[in-house]
Amino acid sequence: MTPYIDSYYTRTLADRRGRPALAGTQKADVCIVGAGLAGLTTGLELQRAGRSVILLEAEAVGWGASGRNGGFVSPGYSRGLASLEGAIGEEPARRLYDLSIEGMNIVAQNIRDLGITDAQRVDGIFRVIRYEDADGLQRFRQRLRERHNYPLDFWETDKVREKLVSTKYFQALLDPQAFHIHPLNYARALAAAIEAAGGRIFENSRAVSVDLDKPEKIIRTTAGEVRAEHVVFTGGGYTDRLVPKLRGSQLPIATYVLVTEAAPDRLAGAIRTRAAALDDRRASDYYRLVDDGRRLLWGGRITTRTSEPRELAEMLRRSITDTYPQLKGIAIDAAWTGLMSYARHLMPQIGQLQPKVWHCLGFGGHGLNTTAIGGRVVAEAITGRSDRIRQFEPFGLVWNGGPAGTAAVQLTYWHHQARDWLRERRAASAG
Ligand SMILES: Cc1cc2nc3c(=O)[nH]c(=O)nc-3n(C[C@H](O)[C@H](O)[C@H](O)COP(=O)(O)OP(=O)(O)OC[C@H]3O[C@@H](n4cnc5c(N)ncnc54)[C@H](O)[C@@H]3O)c2cc1C
Repeated sequence: MTPYIDSYYTRTLADRRGRPALAGTQKADVCIVGAGLAGLTTGLELQRAGRSVILLEAEAVGWGASGRNGGFVSPGYSRGLASLEGAIGEEPARRLYDLSIEGMNIVAQNIRDLGITDAQRVDGIFRVIRYEDADGLQRFRQRLRERHNYPLDFWETDKVREKLVSTKYFQALLDPQAFHIHPLNYARALAAAIEAAGGRIFENSRAVSVDLDKPEKIIRTTAGEVRAEHVVFTGGGYTDRLVPKLRGSQLPIATYVLVTEAAPDRLAGAIRTRAAALDDRRASDYYRLVDDGRRLLWGGRITTRTSEPRELAEMLRRSITDTYPQLKGIAIDAAWTGLMSYARHLMPQIGQLQPKVWHCLGFGGHGLNTTAIGGRVVAEAITGRSDRIRQFEPFGLVWNGGPAGTAAVQLTYWHHQARDWLRERRAASAG
């Protein structure tokens, strides 16, 4: 068994096959460093376009954020739409947002075309708010419909509380096209599809040195090397110092997930929908029923500390009972953590480091759709089929600011937490 952390996903993993480590010299058109969803989508798109690929993965396919996340697949980026428009203007922001919708559709299409039933796709995501703001939600809904032809359903508070039985909640938007999945099974199925198309994947194969300046790029592990015309770096929040400029542009941020014991009757008193839910706070809670509705998978909190907190399960359990006091005392079966990669501008960093050396990372907490479109536009750039990758040019590899940058992120997060708390207090005293 490959070295995964213990999580609900590893306990329910459908494909447990391991893969060999790289040995000797291997050749391919493209070498991809990192087999998370960014690397896997890039590889699959390239293999489909007739290019041979080799993926090098330091641990195992989907070992990083891609196999540990909440499983929410929805449009958008870590950076909100309004902020995106403010930064680059309405039209470029509209086109980027449309790419994020395409990213969601790529995941849906892969699941359908490759018959990935183990991805356990369930439709629908509620975006709920913890204060009164029907007008704000309606404005957002109208904007998405008019500019992106993307429909959302508006739900009034009483209807929301019938499905999500919590007095913390007010209105919501239901996105019927968004969905949730078992992300590790999805990642493993993409790997199998790459191999079925002739691509090769090596696990336990950390790239430890590179020569990038000659026409033939060389990527070395301790036991072998890959020679390729192109290299794509897709190390996400686990990006190491292999290419210092890439590491220096990432802020790894930890976030947490747990899954409860099987308690279908108790859960039915709190969550009466198979759609997933998340709120709009910076440190949003996000959750969904899994295991055919018998268990609750719950995620939340972020921190710049990358070590696992001692009281992880207890910390998250408090978030559950804050929203659903009726679930007090529910037992936790597994709790785990993962690293997301953020750039200071909160947008993916998809582009070219130097000729034929590409990077596709920085997907933050919104990676399921954005890794898919990231992989596709990198593949299109390599094969010369489009230059859509240029739409990401405004958001390049900016320096993360070193330790001061990390501290600034933590402070901003606490500031947002305090603001969210105040907004909720006001809602509670008004109600
Ligand atoms: C707990 C958690 C919950 C999340 N929930 C959601 C969600 O619900 N919806 C959503 O859209 N997004 C979510 N995200 C974000 C999403 O999971 C990520 O943005 C996305 O998976 C990033 O994919 P990636 O391929 O860039 O990185 P990763 O999946 O982290 O993969 C990077 C891989 O590169 C490998 N690697 C690094 N360096 C080397 C090297 N030198 N040689 C070889 N291999 C190397 C690593 O071992 C790793 O496997 C969540 C993230 C976390 C951590």
